Amino acid sequence: MRLCSTLDRGLSVSFAEAVRRGIPPDGGLFIPSSIPVCSGEFLRGIGGLSFQEIAFEAARLLLDGEIPDADLRNIIAEAITFDAPLRRLDESTAVLELFHGPTLAFKDFGARFMARVMSHVRRDGDAGYTVLVATSGDTGSAVASAFHGIPGVSVVLLYPSGRVSQIQESQLTTFEGNVTALEIAGTFDDCQRLVKSAFADARLASRRKLTSANSINIARLLPQTFYYFNAFARLGEQDRGIVFSVPSGNLGNLTAGLIAWKMGLPVVRFVAALNANDVVGRYFASGVYVPGNAVTTLSNAMDVGDPGNLPRVRALFDDDIAAMRREVFTASVTDDETRSAIAESYRKFGYVLDPHGAVGYHALGRYRALAGGSFAGIVLETAHPAKFIDVYDNEVRESITIPERLQVLPGGKKNSVKLPAGFKELKAFLMDS
Ligand SMILES: *Cc1c(COP(=O)(O)O)cnc(C)c1O
Repeated sequence: MRLCSTLDRGLSVSFAEAVRRGIPPDGGLFIPSSIPVCSGEFLRGIGGLSFQEIAFEAARLLLDGEIPDADLRNIIAEAITFDAPLRRLDESTAVLELFHGPTLAFKDFGARFMARVMSHVRRDGDAGYTVLVATSGDTGSAVASAFHGIPGVSVVLLYPSGRVSQIQESQLTTFEGNVTALEIAGTFDDCQRLVKSAFADARLASRRKLTSANSINIARLLPQTFYYFNAFARLGEQDRGIVFSVPSGNLGNLTAGLIAWKMGLPVVRFVAALNANDVVGRYFASGVYVPGNAVTTLSNAMDVGDPGNLPRVRALFDDDIAAMRREVFTASVTDDETRSAIAESYRKFGYVLDPHGAVGYHALGRYRALAGGSFAGIVLETAHPAKFIDVYDNEVRESITIPERLQVLPGGKKNSVKLPAGFKELKAFLMDS
């Protein structure tokens, strides 16, 4: 597999190189130089394949031999240990549940695949990498859980002391071995600033071989194509057009869907379901991109003011805004609409959506009202409702089963190192440990 930069189509690196580097030297983002198209035979026979088999075929096509088949099978077997089932709500709408991983959100797919790939592409004799992440909660726990016990990679998480929920803190601090949690006396922005300073410190970055695990890394993006193919397989209606509604923040999930579509997955349209953070909607309407500051909403994982993957979306369409509009419909959904979507889905189908999936559900309804047609609408349900228990009224709340892995064990040992929010202290810690 060859990758270029969104800023330089002439650049050409291998997949291993792109994973190791994270971002190209020109400050753009890695994208595939060309996207391979799957065979008609694969699509016709896909209903007979398991999710893991589909994942293997899609990965093999994309990677084009760069990881030997046997290794790739192992990576997938170890990363994709849970299903992405499709639940029918009615004749025309289904929900693709992406929350069956260890931390109950779709980020488990990308983080777990990336962890194993990173261990695989490590050069012989390498001392190993340190993944450095600032987290306000969810990304950190997905990354910690995914990299825990992976040889050749250690993880250092920075989280703001006293500013994450008790459940999140216990998800971040109960790992041992290759995962270290740093409890920073500051805000999430302080944590992000510290991480940026660490990457900018040449001596530190080379000593620890620092790398990032955010959704900018191409290894987190590729495995997200797998479940789009799986949705098509499980729908089992090959002739019916599909519209995917994708709750979107940083646009990683949407980018993966567009890659799957370019690989030949028959998709009529994507709905980029946005909350009040609507910079992408405004860009689609005007053709002019103006980043903004994020505002807080119920679907907080989508509170993004400057979506990191937008350059990839634009590159996939050669920056042709008319072509983007043909394939992607954007809809911005308010918190009130999110709440009524939760209520409607519960009343009509007895199905509890989390706030992110509810944005997707409402946005799909808006698209259907405008476009009509007999397509199958598939809403990506990106997190388990139990992670957002405060959002629901009593009746809905009582119908939610809290998965065992979310239940906090009282007295669970907290494993974290307290540091002030200063770069000097962080650097000293990283140089010495
Ligand atoms: C990260 C996240 C999103 C947004 O996904 P992007 O790929 O950043 O667009 C949506 N829902 C949940 C639950 C998330 O954690």
